[in-house]
Amino acid sequence: MNAQSEEIKNFLKLEDGQYFADRDSAYLDPYYGLKKLIYGNKRFAENKSISPRQTDADLKNNELGQSPFAVIIGCADSRVPNEIIFDQGVGDLFITRTAGQVMAEASYGTIEYAVVALDTRLIVVLGHESCGAVTAAVKRPENPPGHVVTLINAIKPAALRAEEMTESKDEMLDAAIRENVIEQVNLLRGLEPVMSRKYENGEILIVGAVYNLHTGKVEFIDDTITSLPGYKKYMAAR
Ligand SMILES: [Zn+2]
Repeated sequence: MNAQSEEIKNFLKLEDGQYFADRDSAYLDPYYGLKKLIYGNKRFAENKSISPRQTDADLKNNELGQSPFAVIIGCADSRVPNEIIFDQGVGDLFITRTAGQVMAEASYGTIEYAVVALDTRLIVVLGHESCGAVTAAVKRPENPPGHVVTLINAIKPAALRAEEMTESKDEMLDAAIRENVIEQVNLLRGLEPVMSRKYENGEILIVGAVYNLHTGKVEFIDDTITSLPGYKKYMAAR
């Protein structure tokens, strides 16, 4: 682990009894945004949700526009409602959801819109435990219905890698879920022409996470929480 990632680790460490991170800082600084999501999920998992930014006054403010502090690329699964598990409000999260968080052209355009037009700087790929789409990619049924095959094909490389890495069936599914998230993170980091450039410049942070259906906790994947090469320079120039 290099010096900067130790710095990030220390920054993201949560204080005991502390549950909140500032909204404006979260929008300006993607590491702060990440901290805000971690605190929000801590509130949710500990039954301390506050359901922020959804009063009548908050709704009126929406006429002025939006500045979501995070983009979430999540699974369509009904058990993973993004605003609820991160305890965020109206205007906080810009979300695309498909089974297995598989992305297509329209998803790319959606994500690019957020980072270019809305200046959102944190992108989270959010997988989850017991994902049906990843399960299908691991099992690979013979005649999947309709367009489901698209999902299976997209997740299959991660499923195959997981098969090589693990021995039991349970381990395999968990590994495939994680590998799928990591693959999607890497795909977005290299996505031409917008995402790759912004990532290289240190403008956007792209991380992966897995949600645990039983504990309500989101585990951010350490290896994806990278230090951005151009981050300090970019922040200084803002
Ligand atoms: Zn799923």
